[in-house]
Amino acid sequence: MRTIGHLIGGKTVSGRSGRFADVYQPMTGEVQARVALASKAELREAVENAKAAQPAWAATNPQRRVRVLMKFLELVARDNDAMAELLAREHGKTIPDAKGDIFRGVEVVEYAIGIPELMKGGYTENAGPGIDSYSMRQPLGVVAGITPFNFPAMIPMWKFAPAIACGNAFILKPSERDPGVPMRLAELMLEAGLPPGILNVVNGDKEAVDAILDDPDIAAVGFVGSSSIAHYIYSRAAATGKRAQCFGSAKNHMIIMPDADMEQSVDALVGAGYGAAGERCMAVSVAVPVGKTTADRLMEKLIPRVENLKIGPSTDASADFGPLVTMAALERVRNYVEIGVKEGATLAVDGRGFKMQGYENGFYMGGCLFDNVTKDMRIYKEEIFGPVLSVVRANDFDEAVALPSEHEYGNGVAIFTRDGDAAREFASRVQVGMVGINVPIPVPVAYYSFGGWKRSGFGDLNQYGSDSVRFYTKTKTVTSRWPSGVKEGTQFAFHSK
Ligand code: NAD
Repeated sequence: MRTIGHLIGGKTVSGRSGRFADVYQPMTGEVQARVALASKAELREAVENAKAAQPAWAATNPQRRVRVLMKFLELVARDNDAMAELLAREHGKTIPDAKGDIFRGVEVVEYAIGIPELMKGGYTENAGPGIDSYSMRQPLGVVAGITPFNFPAMIPMWKFAPAIACGNAFILKPSERDPGVPMRLAELMLEAGLPPGILNVVNGDKEAVDAILDDPDIAAVGFVGSSSIAHYIYSRAAATGKRAQCFGSAKNHMIIMPDADMEQSVDALVGAGYGAAGERCMAVSVAVPVGKTTADRLMEKLIPRVENLKIGPSTDASADFGPLVTMAALERVRNYVEIGVKEGATLAVDGRGFKMQGYENGFYMGGCLFDNVTKDMRIYKEEIFGPVLSVVRANDFDEAVALPSEHEYGNGVAIFTRDGDAAREFASRVQVGMVGINVPIPVPVAYYSFGGWKRSGFGDLNQYGSDSVRFYTKTKTVTSRWPSGVKEGTQFAFHSK
């Protein structure tokens, strides 16, 4: 069986802790590999390699640094098919969707190629008599990223590309559920010419994460995953004086106004609700039709679409979605459906009994659809992270704005309408970080930035875009006067004009 170790100091190394986790192939249910779970000592080894390599990397001129990213993009394109297949076989999503996962990461690498421009500081001549002031952005040193299972290509790239372009050394702790692609990406960075030690991959679980949080030489931690862990990481990183940005769970609503194009709304809901088996942080998990007539029209069209979703193995390019990531995830989602039924929601489509012929041990379930879900239900309040869509009927626009605004999560939201005024007011009032207008999954392009509000994001800067340059650098401001300018002798008072 394949064993996945770590990538430390430019070399693939076996794990020494004696602890391993199983990596499944969700479409068959088989264990396909074992991944080593790092100890504190192994994490420390990666930090020491990173610390030794980083000063020379920071001293390399920025344009040369990003040339490595340019080469990396060529290599990702070369290996795209193989990497998408590896991703699909470890995660469960379909191969076309796996290609999208890689592509949305690539876009941020492309953006990071422009970082030499974004790292430029400011300069003021004659900020005082004979005094010039200037600022520079310097890398933090060694930084770390802890990433979730659901985008094993995109999120690692969102983190390491800007950090490395800014002159930092990076330690990536990917999800232990699908570590193959993150390892592959790091190997491609080395092949592209990245000096050893600048990008290390340390596989592991809580032990490796805690070692990152407690390591005195790691200056910043970027995290993406569930909210309770995001909050834990944010607090513990702050306690040891690290910068942290921690992105968490979601409950993304899609509002359907009475004037919305119903065909378009249903298409959007089905794709955004069930694509990747609902295992996306920007998946739509709550549909909010406004008014009884809208709700009835929506349900009439939605039910047959959900009943006819095509579920297939990850290698079936024509499938709408594949299996969930693990049996534990499947059981968790099935359990939520049971909870919804007990809470009194109407289960309009029940996909729990779905079996994939020829793949009976895979982690499959069909799409589920709940109607008449209310605010007090657990299936509304909690993130299910599976192919389950809840319909919450709103009486009017104000109620529809209030639902996502008052929810504890505030990642993404969408409104479907033909009324520009309603859309504009919605975008202004809603208390959510990313808003779509007739766009169900409003993941911002690479030169904007990605980040949810409330318990979907802890920290003050978003990931990617110019925020990533602020996160991965510190500003130094220099006020300078040259000796020939000191003509008046000593000054004892601050100047007052
Ligand atoms: P997760 O929180 O279980 O794991 C994320 C990372 O934390 C992994 O690397 C994991 O090894 C580590 N981890 C797990 N338990 C830990 C513990 N007790 N202590 C320390 N570290 C621990 O999340 P997941 O299941 O991999 O990913 C799905 C979640 O991520 C969903 O909640 C989803 O909404 C969220 N997500 C959010 C965004 C976003 O940008 N807001 C993007 C993608 C996914």
